[in-house]
Amino acid sequence: MTFNNLQLIEPILRALQAEGYTNPTPIQAQAIPYVLQGQDLLGCAQTGTGKTAAFTIPILQLLQGRKSPASGIKALILTPTRELAIQIGESFQAYGKYTNIRHTVIFGGVSQHPQTDALRRGIDVLIATPGRLLDLMGQGFINLKKVEFFVLDEADRMLDMGFIHDIKKIIPQLPQQRQSLFFSATMPAEIQKLADTILKNPVKVEV
Ligand code: AMP
Repeated sequence: MTFNNLQLIEPILRALQAEGYTNPTPIQAQAIPYVLQGQDLLGCAQTGTGKTAAFTIPILQLLQGRKSPASGIKALILTPTRELAIQIGESFQAYGKYTNIRHTVIFGGVSQHPQTDALRRGIDVLIATPGRLLDLMGQGFINLKKVEFFVLDEADRMLDMGFIHDIKKIIPQLPQQRQSLFFSATMPAEIQKLADTILKNPVKVEV
């Protein structure tokens, strides 16, 4: 199995080639076709399995194909830590460098001004930690009404870090009509319950 078997568009294949990646990891090989088909996904995968690219690549491809002149945030990626947020931003940068999809990363603990400047210039993909997202939403810098893709990354760590209330405030702000992807290294009952409230008929992928 190579990336050439996954029906990816040329700008993404070219970016993967530039990264030196020829073979998808197991989570990528399993998840990418379902995401491209528009399915919701429940992914049971740890950091290090290549799960970031498993959602970054198909979201870039679907947005690149669907991108309309209308502005607005079309994909929201929620992740628990600043480090993960930056890493996901680097993935969108690497795999999306030959597309015209714009992204930005927001997280707490730093000045909000560079982040709000980037939001004002207009972006397609927002990668965020929950607290800063709610903060900037409250200040009117962020509108989630155009979101088509929602990713909850590292859901079990989100719960461990006490982000469940923030997540429950964010979800109702998203359109009902959307594609959702949910990733967690472990699937205890509480995580499964959260997944049930976010996903519609999800495909389950486990690595
Ligand atoms: P992740 O699990 O998303 O944190 O990714 C773990 C590491 O694997 C990252 O440094 C990626 O750059 C790298 N990686 C992701 N996909 C591939 C691939 N298909 N081939 C080789 N390395 C990859």
